[in-house]
Amino acid sequence: MVIVVYRYGHRIARDKRITTHVALTARAFGADGIVIDEKDERIEENIRKVVERFGGDFFIKSGIQWKQYIKEWRGKIVHLTMYGEKVKDVIDEMRKYKDILVIVGAEKVPSEFYEIADYNVAIGNQPHSEVSALAIFLHMLTQGKWMEKEFDGVLKIIPCRKGKMLKCNYIKILEKEGCSAEVIEHCKKVNRLAMKIAEKIAEQGVKVDTQAVEAGSLLHDVGRAKTHGIMHIIEGVKIAKKYGLPAKIISIIERHAGAGIDEDEAIKLGLPKKNYTPESIEEMIVAHADNLTGNGYRKLEDAIREFKRKAGEKATKKLIELHKKLSEMAGIDIDMVIEELK
Ligand code: SAM
Repeated sequence: MVIVVYRYGHRIARDKRITTHVALTARAFGADGIVIDEKDERIEENIRKVVERFGGDFFIKSGIQWKQYIKEWRGKIVHLTMYGEKVKDVIDEMRKYKDILVIVGAEKVPSEFYEIADYNVAIGNQPHSEVSALAIFLHMLTQGKWMEKEFDGVLKIIPCRKGKMLKCNYIKILEKEGCSAEVIEHCKKVNRLAMKIAEKIAEQGVKVDTQAVEAGSLLHDVGRAKTHGIMHIIEGVKIAKKYGLPAKIISIIERHAGAGIDEDEAIKLGLPKKNYTPESIEEMIVAHADNLTGNGYRKLEDAIREFKRKAGEKATKKLIELHKKLSEMAGIDIDMVIEELK
C-alpha cells in the first residue's frame, strides 16, 4: 500500500513547526511521502536531511496545488476531520486499498474537501491537531506495523533505559557518498592503525577519545567521493556537516592532510586561508595513521622518501616531528606498532 499525506493550508510564517511535525509523523508512522500546498524550501530541506541521516525513502514535495494533485490521484482519498465518521467503523475497509491519500488541514479546510474525499474520518469527535490525528490514523491503518519498519539509516538510535545512544554507520556514509572501493579499503586500513595507536597512547594513561578516532579515521577521506585533489578535505568537511557530525570529527577530517598545512601553505595550495595543522591527539593520530598507510602500511623511512619527493623539506620535517611526538606518547615507536599490526 502507498500512503501519501497531503498537507492543506500551510502558511510559511505560521505553520513552519507544525507542518514539519506533520511530515516527521508521516515518515515515522509509515507514510511514503508528503505533499504540501505552499512552496516551502526550508521544510523540504529539513525533512530531506532527516531522511539522509535516519534512512528510508520518504519523499517531500511542496508548492503543489490540491486541485491538480487530487485530480491526478488514482487511489482513495481520506480526509481527517473531527466532523467525519468514527475511525473504528471504517479503518478495516481501508486496508484493502492499494493507494491512500490522507488529507490533513491547518486552520480551515474548504467545504469541497468533504465532497471529494471518499472518506471523512474523525479520530474522536473533538477538535485536536493534525499531528495527533495523523499519528493515530496511521497507527490504526498499519495495525501498529509502522513500529517494525527498518529505516536502515546512517544513524540508528539504540533504545536504552537511560541516556542517549546513537550508532553511526560510517562505512555506509562512504558508500552513500560514492567513495570508490579503494578509498573505502584505505579508510578501513587507516582506521585499524589509528585505533592501535590510540590504544597504545591510552595505555600510557593519556586520555584519548577513541570514538572520535574511530569516526575520524573512517571518514577522513570521505571528500574523495568528490575529488582526489587537496580540496577533498573541504569536500569532506561539507559532507560531515550534512550528516550533522560533531565538530571534533569535522576537525579531524579538516586537519588530516600530511602532517599539517599552515596558513601560508594553504594559500599556495588553493585552500581557503586557514590553519590545517592537527592539534588534538585524535587529529594527530588520524593524520599520521594516514601518512603511514598507502596500499599497505609503511614505516616512517618510506613515508619520508615519498614526502621529500612530493611535498618538500618543510612537510617532511613536520612528518618526522609528528612521528616522534606520537611515539613518545605511545611509549613505543609507531613503526613498531605497524610491525605489531602486520
Ligand atoms: N475544524 C477543523 C477540523 O475540521 O477538524 C480543526 C482544525 S485543526 C486545527 C487542523 C486539522 O487537524 C484538521 O484539518 C484535521 O485534519 C485535523 N483534526 C483535528 N481534530 C481532528 C479530529 N478530531 N479528527 C480528525 N482530524 C482532526
